[in-house]
Order: sequence, then C-alpha cells, then structure tokens
Amino acid sequence: MFSKAAGLLDLAPGLEEKIRVCNSTYTVRFGVKLRGKIQTFVGYRSVHSDHSEPVKGGIRFSMGVNQDEVEALAALMSYKCALVEVPYGGSKGGLTINPNDWDVDELERITRRFAFELIKRDLINPSQNVPAPDMGTGEREMAWIADQYKRMKTTDINASACVTGKPLNKGGIRGRTEATGRGVQYALREYFRHPDDVKAAGLSGALRGKRVIVQGLGNVGYHAAKFLTEEDKCPIVAVIERGGAVMREDGLDIEALRAHLNEHGTVAGFEGADRFEENGALVLEEDCDILIPAAIEAVITRENAARIKAPLIIEAANGPVTAGADEILLQAGKVVIPDMYANAGGVTVSYFEWVKNLSRIRFGRMQRRQEESHNQILIDELERMTGQKFTEEFKQQYTQGADELALVRSGLDDTMRGAYQQMHEVWRSNDKVDDLRTAAYLISIRRIADSYAALGL
Ligand code: NAD
Repeated sequence: MFSKAAGLLDLAPGLEEKIRVCNSTYTVRFGVKLRGKIQTFVGYRSVHSDHSEPVKGGIRFSMGVNQDEVEALAALMSYKCALVEVPYGGSKGGLTINPNDWDVDELERITRRFAFELIKRDLINPSQNVPAPDMGTGEREMAWIADQYKRMKTTDINASACVTGKPLNKGGIRGRTEATGRGVQYALREYFRHPDDVKAAGLSGALRGKRVIVQGLGNVGYHAAKFLTEEDKCPIVAVIERGGAVMREDGLDIEALRAHLNEHGTVAGFEGADRFEENGALVLEEDCDILIPAAIEAVITRENAARIKAPLIIEAANGPVTAGADEILLQAGKVVIPDMYANAGGVTVSYFEWVKNLSRIRFGRMQRRQEESHNQILIDELERMTGQKFTEEFKQQYTQGADELALVRSGLDDTMRGAYQQMHEVWRSNDKVDDLRTAAYLISIRRIADSYAALGL
C-alpha cells in the first residue's frame, strides 16, 4: 500500500526506502517471579520514524504480538500522525501475553517491569517516546506506567506526559477513552457531507439511519456503535465478537450487549438478538450499509473480500483489510475509509492530553466563566432591546462556556473534518489516485518527506 502511493510521488533518490523502513526495534526478554517461578516475557518497542519527536504509539498486550506486527503498526503511526497533523513520529510497543491469564496484581508487576525496561532506555519519555493504550491495555496499565516513570525520574516535572490515555485523576483528559470511537463517528459524518464520495460507494443520502455491522465491541467498537446508534440513529444490525455474532434487524441494544459481554466474556446467549451465528467471521459478509471492523488486523483478506456486501468499510481497527483484499474491494466498487485516518481520533486526543500535561492546566479553566458572562451580556441586552425573552433552554445552551470535554470534542471534530477534506481533494483531483487510502498515504508521505528535506537528509 505504501509503495503504491510512494510510486506516485517524486521523492529524492533513496528517500522512499528511508521512510519505508523502521528505524529501530528494541526487543526485551525479562523475567518476573510469579506463582513460585521465574516467568519470562517478550516485549517490543519499535520506532518507525523520528522526523518529529516525541514518537507516539500504543502498547498492545496480546499473544499475537511479534516484531513484524509491532513494526508495521509503528509505521502506520508515523503516517497517521502526519495525516492528522499531530506533531509526532511513529512508534509502537507490545508484550506477547494474554492478559486474561494473569490476575490484576500479577499484571501490574509484569507491566511495571516492562515499563522499567523501556524507561531506562528512554523508550518511554515525555520528550522522546510516549506510549498510549492499545488492544489489551487501557487506562489502568497507563497509570502503572506513568507511576513507574515517576519513581525512576523523580525530578522530571513533565513526568505525567510520559504516557497518554491515563485515568482522569492521574493526568488524563476528558474524552480520551471514547476518542477513537468518537473519531470514527466524526469521520463517517464528514464522509456523508460529500455526495460524490457517498455515490462512489453506491450509497445515497445522509448517515442517519444507515445499517451498520461492527466487529469487536471493545473500546473502539463499543464507543463507535454507541454514538452511531444513539446520536445518528444508525441501527447496529450485527455485532461480531468472541464466541460468535449476534444480529437484530431493527438494531441491537449496545449497552445491554456490552453488559452481557463483560459478564459472560462472549456474546453467545444474548437475549436481545433475533439471530446468532457461531462463526462470527461469516457475518462480515452480511448485508449492511457500513461495515466497521474494530477488533484485529487481517480479517478481510483475499479469501473473503469478494463476498463482502457492505458498500462502505471504515477501518476502525488497524490493518483489518489486507493489501490483496483492498484491491478486490476497489475493483468491486467498495469504498474503504482507511485506518490511518479512521482511527486517528485516539492519537489526536492523546496529543491534547500530552499538551495538557505539559501546560499543567485543564483546557477551558481560564476562559470558561469569562465566555459565559460575555454571552450573558449579549442575551440581557437583546432581551432589553426587544422586550422579548429567550427560552430558558436556549439561554442555557448559548451562555454555556466550553469545558474540557467540549473543547476536546471540538478539536477532534475539526481534525477529522480537516483531514478528510484533504484526502477528498487529493482523491478527486488526481486521476492516478483511485481510493482514499492512496490519497491518505500521498499526503502523509509527502509531509514526512518534506520534514526530512527540511532536516537536510
Ligand atoms: P480492545 O481490546 O478494547 O477491544 C477489542 C475487541 O475485539 C475485544 O472486545 C475482543 O473481544 C474483540 N475481538 C478480538 N478478536 C476478535 C475476533 N477475531 N472477532 C471478533 N472480535 C474480536 O481493543 P481496542 O482498543 O478497541 O482496539 C481495537 C482495534 O483498534 C485494534 O486494532 C487497535 O490497534 C485499534 N486502535 C485502538 C485505539 C484505541 O484508542 N484504543 C486507537 C487506534 C486504533
């Protein structure tokens, strides 16, 4: 996918290769004494490109973690950050572990030890390398990592900026947990503001009411499904998860399904469904308007791509469509909104969190009340001049100053809209660009190349 786009650019000799390869990957094998013996774990932290520092990328806990995967995901982070104009290079980390095999105390010891190994090599550092949550990790793990960093670098005033996705009471930011799913919603809203693009998928009309299938009801999939169903009135007609897939033509109750999944560890047995399919992967091929793979990579491959019915696929997960499948989908007239854009909401709000940590002040704290009193003056004067009264509801909405959550959402929406508009422009104005993914790569590779050029490389 990278080469397809890079071939369309007139890059300086050798620069394509420099951008493509991963700068470095650190592999660590460490032991933790647990359950009466030393258990050895394998972890990675890969830096793809440090044209802009710090480098940024999540830490994943999964049995599937290996060097190739971490490097591919680190590369994706470089392109993602460049595309949404977040001033970071790309990185990624992972631990080959099934978090469910260990209890919370054990997991804390393992995470802290892994963090120790990375911190002592500056592979976690607020000015050099800033991790975030990914599959199998969340704010709990980020809080342990931040605390480990503080214990080792006791005089670093920027310590809490060493990792993002932390809990609120540990320097996190409102709206981070939901950010990636929220970004998927904003991406879809922007897509549906471009009738030509909607038509390219053979769809018509607005986002409202479109039938959606979601794979993975974890952090990203749950929030995307929740916002799309609650706010855009899109029925979630199927959810594919561990243990199979559940379907309901008039839309699943996402809150109830998530509660069931949390309690039972599977969607099987969920009473609010009218159909159940044990082989979840088959449901990717069911009829719907929008397919949202939000679980793992390589779920749409050469093998099943031709059978995918959804005209629009938005890659909420990283790499759910393989390069071979991408070609087949393109030939079949499907539109794929690529991962590098679609799930960039997470890193965007991580960036806001990092800025908040460095400035040590909550967004909106200085101006919120000032904004409110300013708006109140206008309301009072208009009421005095006209002798009429605004409704209480309007007054409340209008006078309200922006708090942190409102500002985060506004910054995220602006980022998602802006990046889509740039991709749209490239897609529509260049004959050689036949899809949004190539457009996204063109923009981000160009930005990284320009950054290297400015550095004199
Ligand atoms: P998560 O661990 O919270 O959720 C993943 C969900 O997918 C789990 O509920 C799991 O049961 C389910 N799942 C796993 N394998 C499955 C399969 N074969 N079929 C169906 N369901 C399956 O992870 P997450 O944070 O939601 O991340 C999901 C994807 O989004 C990953 O690709 C990740 O790299 C990407 N992503 C996450 C973020 C973020 O902020 N969390 C940001 C950008 C990209």
